[in-house]
Amino acid sequence: MSLRLHNTLTGRTEEFDPLQPGRVGIYTCGPTVWNYSHIGNFRAYLFYDLLRRHLEVSGYRVTHVMNITDVDDRIVDQAAIGGTTIFDYVRHYEQAFHEDLASLRARRAEVYPRASEHVREMVVLIERLLASGHAYIADGDVYYRISAFPPYGRLSHLDRAGLKVGARVSQDRYEKESATDFALWKKEQPGDVIVGATWDAPFGRGRPGWHIECSAMSMRYLGETLDVHAGGIDLLFPHHENEIAQSEAATGRPFSRWWLHSEFLADATGEKMSKSLGNFATLRDLLAAGHDPLAIRFFLIANAHYRSRLRLDETALHASSQQVRRLRDFHERLLEFAPQDGGEWLLQEARDTRLHYRAALDDDLNLPQAVGYVFDLVREANAAMDAGRLGAGARSELLGLLADADAHLDVLSGAEPVVDAEVERLIAEREAARSARDFARADAIREGLLERGIQLEDTAAGVRWRRASR
Ligand code: AMP
Ligand code: ZN
Repeated sequence: MSLRLHNTLTGRTEEFDPLQPGRVGIYTCGPTVWNYSHIGNFRAYLFYDLLRRHLEVSGYRVTHVMNITDVDDRIVDQAAIGGTTIFDYVRHYEQAFHEDLASLRARRAEVYPRASEHVREMVVLIERLLASGHAYIADGDVYYRISAFPPYGRLSHLDRAGLKVGARVSQDRYEKESATDFALWKKEQPGDVIVGATWDAPFGRGRPGWHIECSAMSMRYLGETLDVHAGGIDLLFPHHENEIAQSEAATGRPFSRWWLHSEFLADATGEKMSKSLGNFATLRDLLAAGHDPLAIRFFLIANAHYRSRLRLDETALHASSQQVRRLRDFHERLLEFAPQDGGEWLLQEARDTRLHYRAALDDDLNLPQAVGYVFDLVREANAAMDAGRLGAGARSELLGLLADADAHLDVLSGAEPVVDAEVERLIAEREAARSARDFARADAIREGLLERGIQLEDTAAGVRWRRASR
């Protein structure tokens, strides 16, 4: 089975094949650090984490780039209110963002480029768009001319008849009704100078618009054509549409081959969680209310498929916390359980479940379905252990299944992830034990590694190892 992902660009679920075999570059829209991210934002960020983890399980080397938007209308406003610079204003929220991601066990991206440190790249891109006639200057601002880019609207399936040729919008965020020329560069305002949000450019001092930030930073780190670009569904229009228009007009090449969008987290009444509606909770709010960050992680990634809406309420959070506890209890019980001879009737089922688990993830990252398979088997295996009937082979396969699941869920242990050097050392130790015919010791090392998500494979060419899945 190979990995299939739903591509918003084509509207289809397609077999995934990156440009370079074995390697994937992903760009994901990160936080605008004007405030704490709310738990809805973390649904998007944990979707990125799930994508990353499954690409790794599938054998890809991943380069993940997630931008930090630290120049934006809202940040300029907030810094002005606080009487500080944009740089001093955002640092606290940027730090909080990284702390929150760590509490939720999101794997770190390779690069977190800050917009304020890539203005030069944005200026170069804008110059190219001016030179090719895709941008123009009006009242000192630079705008993108959407009528000069015929594919505009392809991603969001926008009706081009609705485009208002020549009409302009200077705000970073706007609704679909205003499919108009948008600001690439905003000329310097007195307020921008006070908060330090101003840079030199051949077309006049000012600051970049939000959309150009992502085009410039994604291409800077991943090249002109990306494998995957992901974001929350609300970014589809205008943000991603504008990113495509900017990038493709400048390079003449396809910008991103896959576009992946995750659905909203809604409040208990079903309304999209957002700062502007005021119906949001931050991770800090939920932790202060006594919730386990890993139960929150489980809730956000395993309760609903990433393309379905999910509602946050106490009952659902509580249920997630119980599911995490069940998995942990089961894991501990398996570790302590002394296998019985003749109890291999679950062996085949455990093997099949591992295959089904993997197939569900390969099918557009269907973690909720995959986790459903795991819980079905947990029930049966608990019954088998109650009856004292679980063989060594089945037990080891069940531990393998938990390791597979934990490669995505990451809720089982409080331990630090095992590092490569330690795996190599243990493999050497196991080889030594085997040469000394101490097979019990060799098996114990193998099992110990499996419990930590590392699987060994004895091949003609020697021992190979891999993380979690098969
Ligand atoms: P922003 O800081 O507003 O640009 O949003 C950061 C990320 O969070 C983007 O990928 C958004 O699509 C995503 N996002 C915002 N609100 C929600 C929500 N209620 N549920 C899920 N994702 C969201
Ligand atoms: Zn973006």
